[in-house]
Amino acid sequence: MSVLLWLVLVTAPRAPAAQAVLITTPRGETSVPVTTERGSAAVAAPRLGPPLGLTVALDGSRVTVGLSGVVFVFQLGAPFVRAGGVVYGLVGEPYVARDTVFLPLHWLADCVPRAVGGRYRWEPAPGGDTGRLVELPIASAVTATPPSTPSTAPVLPPSPASAPNPITGLRQRHGVVIDPGHGGVDPGNPGRYFPSGLVEKDITLAIGRLLRAELTRRAIVATLTRSTDTLIDLTDRGALCKAACDLFVSIHVNAMPDGRRADRVSGVETYFLSDAKTEDQQRVAQMENEAISFETGTSSAATGPLGFILRDLQVNEYLRESAQLAQLVQDSAARIHPGGDRGVQQAGFTVLTTARRPAILVETGFATNRTDGAFLASSLGQHKIASAIADGIVAYLLELERKRAVAAPARGR
Ligand SMILES: [Zn+2]
Repeated sequence: MSVLLWLVLVTAPRAPAAQAVLITTPRGETSVPVTTERGSAAVAAPRLGPPLGLTVALDGSRVTVGLSGVVFVFQLGAPFVRAGGVVYGLVGEPYVARDTVFLPLHWLADCVPRAVGGRYRWEPAPGGDTGRLVELPIASAVTATPPSTPSTAPVLPPSPASAPNPITGLRQRHGVVIDPGHGGVDPGNPGRYFPSGLVEKDITLAIGRLLRAELTRRAIVATLTRSTDTLIDLTDRGALCKAACDLFVSIHVNAMPDGRRADRVSGVETYFLSDAKTEDQQRVAQMENEAISFETGTSSAATGPLGFILRDLQVNEYLRESAQLAQLVQDSAARIHPGGDRGVQQAGFTVLTTARRPAILVETGFATNRTDGAFLASSLGQHKIASAIADGIVAYLLELERKRAVAAPARGR
């Protein structure tokens, strides 16, 4: 299959069918055709090699586009693009028709200038419908992205011959999606022992950001499902972990219901997806799944009953991996936690059902316990828990690489 690139203009239905975006670089100009609607006639797009150095590769549902050394990873049908560990929302979704990849024009106009920091400027055309992308002189470039693999190569798995990372011992590139629980209109639990009105969503975001920093320091590509105080549908969170993602980790803070025991329960526990076995596991799953009541109902991902999803072989394939990941993260987190080790648990979390990779949910402690609450609200505590989760993830990835190395001779890749 030959892969060509078109851009789809989704915001201006009045634009005529045959338009083009001009990409201007010091080495010359190239023109990318723009189509105005899905399924319009696909004419052979021009070769987009020099002068732009733009490459397109399609692998299953993943589209990898290289531009100026930055790798953009799209998923067909998903309004997101990932570049350098950051997920950008898109107006419109990439799709394939007649051997041609269609990308939203929004990507070129908005994401490229942001992702390739300072290298490009988008200049809208006088009519406002299209425009041109101008490459700026190299001296002004400030690229915040990590060194990229050749853009036509798959992001995962990379060459097994690469030298181990001096910090982690990992030899391959890995991607992790971090999900700070709740957000926006969904505060999570009210955080009885958090200071100054902090609630669960604030703590999960703080720990999520620190975890991203800890993983980045360990040369792991880490992406947040939310980096601000916004609400993302539970079913969309896990879906962000697909091709270039090894695992999904959701961060939460536990809370006991009001009662005599409420203050006394403390500690960290790590869940992986399964049917909840005990009353306590059911309570936690129900509490975290309640975020659905805040959602707008516009989620593109289909929700189904847990029983159905659990029968899905694709999920079952990751159950054992998820259990191992949960154990390694739990062991690491329990070592530094003042509230004690509550072990690995199983429950039916909606946020975990849509991940097509090993997925866990860490309840980092109890906001209803004074010691846990103070620990989780402190900068030191947040750093400790983020670092411990990162160590657990590295331990899992080392195991994963070991298993891949054993399987490699038969894989022919
Ligand atoms: Zn929560």
